[in-house]
Amino acid sequence: MIDIEIDLDRCCGAGTCVLRAPEVFDQDDRDGTVILLAEHPGDDLAESVARAAEDCPANAIRVALRPAPGGVVA
Ligand code: SF4
Repeated sequence: MIDIEIDLDRCCGAGTCVLRAPEVFDQDDRDGTVILLAEHPGDDLAESVARAAEDCPANAIRVALRPAPGGVVA
C-alpha cells in the first residue's frame, strides 16, 4: 500500500502530479493547488505516484510504501 502526504504550503500549483497520476491527484479550480484524491492508492499506481513525487517542482509530495499484510513490501 502507498502512503501519500502533501505539503500544501509548498505546492505551487504546477500540475505535474496530475499529468503523472490523474487517478490520485487533481487540482483545485480556484488556485491550482493539488487535491489528493486517494491517500492510500493501490500498489498498481506506485510507479506513477513515484514519478509524480520526483517531478513535483516544489518537492511537495511525500510517498512511502507500507508493507502489505504478511510483511511483504510491495
Ligand atoms: S506537481 Fe507539486 S507543486 Fe504542482 S500541483 Fe502537484 S503537488 Fe503541487
